[in-house]
Amino acid sequence: MNMPALAFDAHTHIFPDAIGPRVVAQLAATLPLPTSYNGTRDGLLRKLAEAGIAGSLNAPVATRADQVDAINIWAAEQNRWPILSLGAMHPDYPDIPTELRRVKDRGLPGIKLHPEYQGFAPDEPRLDIIWRTCRELGLIILLHAGNDWQFPPPCRANPAAIARVVRAWPGLTLIAAHFGGFEQWEAVAHELVGLPLYLDTSFAVGFLPDDQFVRLVRQHSSARVLFGSDAPWQDPPATLAAFRRLPFTPPEQHAILWANAARLFHLEEHACPATSAARKEPSCM
Ligand SMILES: [Zn+2]
Repeated sequence: MNMPALAFDAHTHIFPDAIGPRVVAQLAATLPLPTSYNGTRDGLLRKLAEAGIAGSLNAPVATRADQVDAINIWAAEQNRWPILSLGAMHPDYPDIPTELRRVKDRGLPGIKLHPEYQGFAPDEPRLDIIWRTCRELGLIILLHAGNDWQFPPPCRANPAAIARVVRAWPGLTLIAAHFGGFEQWEAVAHELVGLPLYLDTSFAVGFLPDDQFVRLVRQHSSARVLFGSDAPWQDPPATLAAFRRLPFTPPEQHAILWANAARLFHLEEHACPATSAARKEPSCM
């Protein structure tokens, strides 16, 4: 049986057109790798089309609490297929439960948090209000994990701290970006693999040995791994090609590239609302 070649990129970034090119150029100047596009929605759409990726998830980071309101209004406008969007939150935001309820009411599937840009450790008690409210509301959290080249080590979002959150908040839907801890692959293997959280593949494929990556995915379960590129910091077409070269079985590939994200983000409803009730896989793209 031929598996459908559907793919969804569960970790991408777009910015408002007025600031995207400047933000991306500034960050790009500090990075050792070329960027994929200029940070705009149109730029990402062209890259998704080039890669044959059906859709993606935008992950906005509020670097200050006073940015949260405006980002979430903008994110709700951007949350339309083929680009879905998370909302933003910041631990210093004055009324976290009320804003998370607005995130939910606006139809956003969850929020992005970044411990380095936002200055917190995942297992700090002041984060409890975010974990508790997201769990209550069924909001998904995409959490930056591991090192970030913009910040000197040690990183706040280390695998042991993330494991403490997972154990303290059963039922929380947490996605740890960068396969649970960029450049902390040994700690990921010891602390996170096998726990009930999702790991995305961004800045992992090609950053640890392929055989180690494949082994860890299988130990963790391909049912809890999501393909992500972290575009524009990586190139979706190149990242997808690198992932497809790995020796995963077709069912494993399908789970990581599409099915897990489809389950979490209700992709069939977004991609082809008219046929999703009648079909298991969308055929309208
Ligand atoms: Zn990212």
